[in-house]
Amino acid sequence: MIKKNISLKNYNTFGIDAKTKYFSEISNEKDLVEKIKKCKKTPFRILGEGSNILLTKDYNGFTFIIKNKGINILQENEYEIVVEVQAGENWHDFVLWALEKDYAGIENLALIPGTVGAAPIQNIGAYGMELKTVFKSCRALEIETLTFKIFNKKDCDFGYRSSIFKKELKEKIIITSVCFVLQKPPHKMNTDYDPLKNALKGKKNTIQNIADAVIDIRKSKLPDPSKIGNGGSFFKNPIINNDKFLKLKSKYPEIPNFFESSNKIKIPAAWLIEKIGYKGKRFGNAGIHNKQALVIVNYGNAKGRDILMLAKEIQDKILIHFGIKLESEVNLF
Ligand SMILES: Cc1cc2nc3c(=O)[nH]c(=O)nc-3n(C[C@H](O)[C@H](O)[C@H](O)COP(=O)(O)OP(=O)(O)OC[C@H]3O[C@@H](n4cnc5c(N)ncnc54)[C@H](O)[C@@H]3O)c2cc1C
Repeated sequence: MIKKNISLKNYNTFGIDAKTKYFSEISNEKDLVEKIKKCKKTPFRILGEGSNILLTKDYNGFTFIIKNKGINILQENEYEIVVEVQAGENWHDFVLWALEKDYAGIENLALIPGTVGAAPIQNIGAYGMELKTVFKSCRALEIETLTFKIFNKKDCDFGYRSSIFKKELKEKIIITSVCFVLQKPPHKMNTDYDPLKNALKGKKNTIQNIADAVIDIRKSKLPDPSKIGNGGSFFKNPIINNDKFLKLKSKYPEIPNFFESSNKIKIPAAWLIEKIGYKGKRFGNAGIHNKQALVIVNYGNAKGRDILMLAKEIQDKILIHFGIKLESEVNLF
């Protein structure tokens, strides 16, 4: 069914009340192809659960929401399974499915909002783990040719919160399903991330305990979008070269830093934002969360441009103070 002139307030976790001229949900691949074919002259865009977007204005085209469902095991042996998940499945529901069956590999990614289809777009990551570790391939519609293609891991150019789908193939393909390789017991778990290690002290390293610890940490730190609108981390953690890092360190000896690769150091953007005094600040309907400086929140009636202006102000201040250009993690529409 195609709806006209509807508000997307309930389709983005920022809760921004922006309109779309046309709106339709996609239930399977055939439905997708038919609807895209009809969009010869009308612009369109694809959304999952709208947890990584900021709607900055009304849209004079089609907004398609990916809703195809299904989880199927394709291969199985003593050590692992290959599972195909349809793009419209909720990511956390997939994590719960794996926990229930005792398949390991995605427990650190519990409670990340959004769909399975959007997960490869920015190579979702949390608590020392990234999607690329368990990703095998995805199936996607190439918009120009209307043919389906398979992208294997090596085709995806996964990086920190990035992939080929956010770069060269941005808005050129639509992911309809993703295949993952998950481990069967005995499991190899990743508990290196300090807050996770601390939360697991005295407990067994089971995938259920890891997921429970991750869920508790996330709930204590991140605002729940159903209570206060937000899009998770608004900015990526900047990666700078060694020379620049040493200059900053001489001025700010306490600067937190993480080794990324030779000559590349990752700096927590939240620290930079705290340092310019923005953590917990409110500007009308928009503000910076008081527990997590990376998260910009909508206190109720913010427009997309209020959030965007605040984000720009933060970017400008960080550039002036530290000479670092903060990149947005959230997709702007
Ligand atoms: C409270 C909160 C916490 C978060 N924590 C994390 C975290 O820990 N780690 C992390 O990595 N992310 C995190 N995020 C960001 C978000 O959860 C992920 O980016 C998620 O994968 C987005 O899924 P979505 O379905 O909501 O995508 P959307 O926001 O709907 O879309 C995101 C982008 O992907 C495109 N897209 C969506 N589906 C498809 C598809 N099927 N094919 C092609 N393109 C598509 C859209 O056009 C858009 O550009 C968080 C967000 C929130 C609100």
